[in-house]
Amino acid sequence: MTLGALEAGGTKMVCALGDETGKIFEQTSIPTTKPEETLSACMDYFKDKNIEALGIACFGPVDLNRQSSTYGYITTTPKPGWANVDVVGAAKKALGVPVGFDTDVNGSLLGEVTYGDAKGLTDAVYFTIGTGVGAGIISGGNLVHGMMHPEAGHMLLTPREDDAYKGHCPFHRNCFEGFAAGPAVEERWGAKGVELADRDEVWDLEAYYIAQAMVNCIMILSPQRIILGGGIMHQEQLFPLIRKKTTEMLKGYIKAAELEDMDSYIVPASLNDDQGIMGCLKLALDELSR
Ligand code: ZN
Repeated sequence: MTLGALEAGGTKMVCALGDETGKIFEQTSIPTTKPEETLSACMDYFKDKNIEALGIACFGPVDLNRQSSTYGYITTTPKPGWANVDVVGAAKKALGVPVGFDTDVNGSLLGEVTYGDAKGLTDAVYFTIGTGVGAGIISGGNLVHGMMHPEAGHMLLTPREDDAYKGHCPFHRNCFEGFAAGPAVEERWGAKGVELADRDEVWDLEAYYIAQAMVNCIMILSPQRIILGGGIMHQEQLFPLIRKKTTEMLKGYIKAAELEDMDSYIVPASLNDDQGIMGCLKLALDELSR
C-alpha cells in the first residue's frame, strides 16, 4: 500500500510516500511561499504516485469540524496570504483520494503513539516548543479536537519573581509561548537559544516555565506520558531540569507510578524528527478506513 504524507509547515512542506507500517519510501521538501504555488507544487509531487490516501498535518489554526463549511481550511493564521485557505479541498480536487487532516502537533503525537516509543498509549501529550508552542493531545485513545483544537501553548503561566520580562505573545504576554518559545528566549536574553547553550541561568528559567506547563497538563489531562519536541528542546540539558522542577511543583499531590519514573514520563520525541510525517501516514490510513 502506498500512502501520501504532507507535513504542512509555515516555512516548508514535507511531502512523502510511505505505507501503513510507518515505513517512509521517499520524501522531499518544498518551501512554503504563496498558497496556490506551494499547494500545487505539493500536489504535483503526489499526482503520479498512485497513493491510496493522503494525510495532512497542518500549521494552523485549522478547521477540524467535519460538519463545518470550512472543514479542512487554515483559518485565521497571521501568516500572510494563508488565512482561509482550503487545504483539504485542494488536495481532494487534485488527487481524488481520501484526505485525512489534523494539526501539525496532533500529527507528531499520532506518529509517536502509533510508531514510536509511546506506541499503544491512550493518553499522551506532545508539546512542540520552538518558534511557537503547540500541543497535540490524545485522550482515551482519541485525538482531542473539541470546539476546534486545543491551544495549550497559550496556557497562562505565573512569572518567576526575578523575571521582569513581559512576555512575547501579543495576545496574552504571560502565556507558555510568550515566556518560553524561541523568540521569547531571544528577546529576554539578547541572543538565540543555541548561542546560550552554556548559560545555566537561561535553562533554569526556561525549565521553570516549561515545568509549570507540565504541572497544568498533568492536573488537567492526567496523561500517561508527555513528549517534548521542537527547536528549544534540542537543548537536552533541559530535560533533567524540567523533570526535577515538575516533581517539585507537584508537591507530591499526585500519586501515580508513572510519576515515580520521570525519566520515562517526560521524554524527547523518539522518531528522529520523522514523527510528523509518520503521523501523516496514520492520518491517511485512518481516513481510508473511515
Ligand atoms: Zn499567548
